[in-house]
Amino acid sequence: MQSLSIAFIFLFAILANWTQTPSKKLTITPLTGDLYVFTSYGMYNDQPVPANGMYLVTKDGAVLFDAPWDTTQFQPLLDSIKRKHGQNVVLCLATHWHDDRSAGLTFYAKHGAKTYTSKLTDQLCKEYHKPRPNYTFNQDTVFTVGEYSFEAYYPGEGHTKDNIVVWLEKDKVLYGGCLIKSTAATNLGNVDDGNVRAWPQSIRNIQQRFGLPQYIVTGHDRWDSKASLDYTLKLLAEQGAN
Ligand SMILES: [Zn+2]
Repeated sequence: MQSLSIAFIFLFAILANWTQTPSKKLTITPLTGDLYVFTSYGMYNDQPVPANGMYLVTKDGAVLFDAPWDTTQFQPLLDSIKRKHGQNVVLCLATHWHDDRSAGLTFYAKHGAKTYTSKLTDQLCKEYHKPRPNYTFNQDTVFTVGEYSFEAYYPGEGHTKDNIVVWLEKDKVLYGGCLIKSTAATNLGNVDDGNVRAWPQSIRNIQQRFGLPQYIVTGHDRWDSKASLDYTLKLLAEQGAN
């Protein structure tokens, strides 16, 4: 009887652990062209929450838009890019100062990447004792790596004071990070460092500047909808912001 109850305790422990830990620590999904979305998990309110980043493969190396949230996945992502594409990560750009974006800056710099954030993001990284980039930019900036160009654009405050988005004109991809909510989200998420009143105008600034993207990659949850900009406005309106 005792061994049976011990067996049950074990089974329970295994199941409890299994339900709390996502079965995969890092998933990589082709988006379009030479772009891939990677997803890792972090704990928020005692729940595992997926966070999305993106990478671009060019003839001169790979570019990371944000780093995995799960710090144990920095190296596996690097290894996977090397194995699949034969490329090193040459540039890593974090889109705001939170851990699900910037945690990997020091790691990827150590492995040879040029690491970038906006000046404002770097100030906040410094203030909150987060990893900091090697390089900063002061205003909206077009980067060119190999045969690709992409634009880092600051539309205004929202999820955080410093959140930027990235536009890839060739593929009409908007990498939105946490400023853009997935259509799977039921609320605005963590707004402790945000500005809910300014957020709607920031979304409209993106819409005015880039028109209709083919793909919109959100910071969390599924990114298979083109309606996530409008959906973010809807969530904001429900919060009384417009
Ligand atoms: Zn986030």
